[in-house]
Amino acid sequence: MDSSMLKAGWECKCPKCHIGDLYKSRFDLTLKDECAHCGLDFTKNDSADGPAVFLIFVLGFLIVPIALLADHLLTWPLWLHGLVWGVLTLILIVASLRPIKGCVIALQYKHRPRDWEE
Ligand SMILES: [Zn+2]
Repeated sequence: MDSSMLKAGWECKCPKCHIGDLYKSRFDLTLKDECAHCGLDFTKNDSADGPAVFLIFVLGFLIVPIALLADHLLTWPLWLHGLVWGVLTLILIVASLRPIKGCVIALQYKHRPRDWEE
């Protein structure tokens, strides 16, 4: 697998030229219509629910065992577990949704090239 392509996706850059920005602004999930550098049409992406599904699986497999281990080792009340793990999960989702979506778009660009043709 081409790691530079995934690196560009993780950095929210265009999957074709790895230079142009994918998103309209730094804190927005809205894609630009096209790459400002190479002109790739971003409206042809089809990431759909892919980024959310990846996050559900990855964060679920990370957070739940850690929370169970913390519950076993610590004597926190239930409300504190809910607060800590809920807030931590939200922070990780907000921090990683844009890069994960960039990687899914990069994977689509590599493995489904016909989606991007005119
Ligand atoms: Zn580009």
